[in-house]
Order: sequence, then structure tokens, then C-alpha cells
Amino acid sequence: MSREQLVVQRARKSFQTGRTKPLEFRIHQLKSLLRFISDRRRDIAEAVKKDLGKSEHGTELFETLGLEGDIKLAVEKLAEWAAPRPVEKNLLTISDEVYVQPEPLGVVLIIGAWNYPWAVTLQPLVGAIAAGNAAVLKPSELSEYSSLLLRALLPRYLDKDLYPVVTGGVSETQELLRLRFDHIFYTGSSTVGKLVMAAAARNLTPVTLELGGKSPCYIDKDCDIRIACRRITWGKFVNCGQTCIAPDYILCEPCIQGRVVECIRQTLLEFYGADPKCSADYGRIINQHHFNRVMSLMEGYTPVVGGQSDASQRYIAPTVLKDVPPHSRLMQEEIFGPLLPIVTVSDMDDAIRFISEREKPLALYIFCSDKKAIKRMIEETTSGGVTVNDVMMHYTLNSLPFGGVGQSGMGRYHGKHTFDQLSHQRACLVRSLGMESVNLARYPPQDRRRARR
Ligand code: NAD
Repeated sequence: MSREQLVVQRARKSFQTGRTKPLEFRIHQLKSLLRFISDRRRDIAEAVKKDLGKSEHGTELFETLGLEGDIKLAVEKLAEWAAPRPVEKNLLTISDEVYVQPEPLGVVLIIGAWNYPWAVTLQPLVGAIAAGNAAVLKPSELSEYSSLLLRALLPRYLDKDLYPVVTGGVSETQELLRLRFDHIFYTGSSTVGKLVMAAAARNLTPVTLELGGKSPCYIDKDCDIRIACRRITWGKFVNCGQTCIAPDYILCEPCIQGRVVECIRQTLLEFYGADPKCSADYGRIINQHHFNRVMSLMEGYTPVVGGQSDASQRYIAPTVLKDVPPHSRLMQEEIFGPLLPIVTVSDMDDAIRFISEREKPLALYIFCSDKKAIKRMIEETTSGGVTVNDVMMHYTLNSLPFGGVGQSGMGRYHGKHTFDQLSHQRACLVRSLGMESVNLARYPPQDRRRARR
């Protein structure tokens, strides 16, 4: 029996003991998870620094803040979320007890990506614990320091049989995918997402796929371009562009392109100084493979901002490219790095057409001061989520479901949405054995009924 099989078998046996059923147990585990984060804040920040060159402040803001918010919310609201929910009745069920009962699914496999190694692995776990499941965690091998730290420390805080951490690379993930789970929660690329879904289909296992894609960012010519570019620059270059909901590219009319470039240039100077390589707030590319991939996307272009790189540090400067042709390679795949192409469109209609002709993105950003035009653009496009006049902020609110649509994913999470996603909503109807006469109308033989009429 492989190590992965043993771990999953142990998690399933522990789940079957029923110890995740009492809400007190779940709350105890959630509070331990919260304690883990607050006790080990420094260690977590250090690991993320080694993995991605992220600052301690960046880790706090993008990894642990949302996670802690989700845990606190689950602790506070669990009794409400897990309670049976009475539903409307009809004449035939008027004296019955009718309700929806959220139930645990069983053993959930959580496969994480490397770009926010703590948030994308532990935030699904919060919902898995709250919903009463066991969960096997498979953090990404690319964020190695975070992954090893998670494996070393999590068992000291959580039930180690119910919530084990499996480390390793593609072959370990594939081995896990051969096993049977009750739900698979995957965060990563669309390519691997398809493999995960195919593996899940063999056991009819439901999946949540948190994938990526090219999130467009439209700037209307009449908006405050300086403010728009400040917000875009922040969202694009944080974590060195390795954010699933980073604005992937800008769409704007040719008449404002020059001003957009200048405003981004000025903001970069303000955020990261004359040499971003020396800034403690500017990150690094995760590994050599991704460094080469991002560098190759720039081939054939002369950047109007940035373009410098240092392979020895996996450093790529914040880079802006203008007049990028819509059919170039840069516009075919998710950039997932600090390159910001600008594609010009003739007007908002053209932008809507551009977006709608492509795969449904994970996020859409609209910078515009005309409320009617904003509503129209939202109505005439689709995406996993949308933020107007800022970037990424819809992610921070756990009352909003976070997830993709089409190629950018399926399913949703954050806050109660994770609990719902990882619960079975069981339809329950409880009636008494009395009032049998009411049921006669539906029993055969039909002749007897006719005779009675
Ligand atoms: P990755 O390479 O770390 O892969 C993710 C996971 O898949 C890892 O645990 C890895 O072991 C596993 N994996 C990789 N190849 C596999 C294979 N052939 N078979 C089975 N398992 C395999 O991460 P990545 O895919 O480079 O992540 C980046 C992508 O993730 C981007 O597209 C980004 O947009 C997306 N992402 C999405 C979200 C979201 O919430 N929607 C969040 C973060 C990242």
C-alpha cells in the first residue's frame, strides 16, 4: 500500500468514527487552526519570503488576513450554517416536517497552487472542517518552504489523522488522484484542472476547480486615469504578477494609451523606487521554469516601461508593453508574471466584443465613471467576478462567492460559500403514520378511486 493510500485510508476511517459530526469538535479544530496562524506568523512569513520573495506585510495582507477572517466567521456562524433549514411546503406536505440538512461529504482532497501557498490551501480547509469533513491537503511542491512547513507544523495543531498533509510533486498528486474522495478542491492551471476532473470522473467525485485565465482590465477614456493606473499597478505587480485575479492586460482607446503608460510609470516609481530590484516590496518569480516562460512572452517586443531581468535572482522588472496585437502569444495564454500588455480598442463596444470573443475570465475590471456604461458592460460580459474602479477587491469580501466560470473554473468558496460547497444539502421530509386517508388518492387501483367519486 502506498503512503498516499495509507493516509487517505486513515482519514476515511477517522471520518467514519463520526468524530467530526459534533459542532464543538469542528469549532475546536478551527480555533486550533487560528492559533497555528497566530503562533507561527513569523515562520509562515519567512517561508513565503524564501519561496516568492514576498514581504512580511504582503504575506499578512494576502495570505493570512483573509484566512483568519474566514476562520473567525466560521467559528461564529457554524451553529447557524449547520442547522436544518425549514423550506416551503405544499398542500400534500402541510403537516410534515420539511427541511434541508447540511451534511459532511466525507474525505475531501485539497490540491493547492504555489502563488499564495497558505491562502489557497488553508482557506478551503476552513470550510472542509466547518462542514464536518476529513481533508487531505496537497500543497504545491513549487512553494517548497511553505509546503514543508505546513507538513511539519499542522499536525501539531489539528487532528493529524483527519487533516493530513501530503507533500511531493506531480507523481504524488497523480497517486492521490487515483484514490477515491468525496470531493476534490483544486487550485491551479486550467490544463491540470482538466486532468483533475478526468480523474474525479472515474469515481463520480464532484470537483471545485479554482483556475486561472486572462482577466481583462478596461479603462474608459473619461475616467480618472491617474487613480485607475495607481490601483491597476498595485494589483498587477503585487507578488510579481503571480496572482490568479491580477489584471492580465489593459484595454483602452488609443487616445489615452500614452497617458496610461505615463501614469503606470510614475506609480511604479512611487511604489518600488527607481530600481524595483532593490525594493523589499517587490517579489520574485517562483522558479527558473516560470522565469524562462515569462521572459519568452516578451520576445519580439520593446517594453515602454521596465523589461530588465536578472536570471540569478529570478527577477523581472515591472514591465509595460503597448500596442500589443490581439493575436500575439502574449495575448493567448495567462501571463502570470509582471508583464502588462496594452491592447487598443476603438470604444467600449469594441472592448465588450474583445472580451466576449475570448474564454470567460476569472475576473473583469472596469474603470469608468459613467454608471449606465458600467451596468451595460457588466450585463454584456461574463466573468467569475467583477470589480469596478478597482482591482481584486471582490476577493476580499467573504460574503461574495469566489470562483470562476467556464475555463476559469467551477464552484465557489470563501466564508459560508466554502461551507456550502463542501456540504451535502440533504432534502429531508419527516411525516407521521397518521392521516392515512389523505394518501388514498395516490394509491392504486385507479378503479377504486373512480368508484369512490
Ligand atoms: P502548480 O504547478 O503548483 O500546480 C497546482 C497543483 O497541481 C500542485 O499541487 C501540483 O502538484 C499539481 N499538479 C501539477 N501538475 C500536475 C499533473 N500533471 N497531474 C496532477 N497534478 C498536477 O500551480 P500552477 O498550475 O502553476 O498554478 C498557477 C495557476 O493557478 C494559474 O493559472 C493561476 O491563475 C491559478 N490559480 C488560481 C487561483 C484561483 O483561486 N482561481 C488561485 C491561485 C492560482
